[in-house]
Amino acid sequence: MSSSPSDPATTPTKIEQQGSRSLGITWADGVETRFDVRALRLACGCAQCVDEWTGAGRLDPAAVPEDIHPLRIEGVGRYAIQIEWSDGHRAGIYPFRRLRELADESAPQQAE
Ligand SMILES: [Zn+2]
Repeated sequence: MSSSPSDPATTPTKIEQQGSRSLGITWADGVETRFDVRALRLACGCAQCVDEWTGAGRLDPAAVPEDIHPLRIEGVGRYAIQIEWSDGHRAGIYPFRRLRELADESAPQQAE
């Protein structure tokens, strides 16, 4: 089966802020992931944060406050969430597919 917008691995069933520092997402395939909110802010892929032409990051990590946190999280259609941040940034859209990729990238390895 090819991947589709209803792929369980990229369909969240629950999104909730866990304390002030992390955002938890539970996926339809049963996997639970947890994101550090500041890492999410740094991973913003909008045109203000990433150069549209070169793909290079334009966001200075030093400019992002240590205590940054989401003020509001809204669904965008069925494929993404938009986060309004405490630093005033609100253009960031996080497609579920990208969130899942970020989660899988940062997941601890299974090696013992
Ligand atoms: Zn951005």
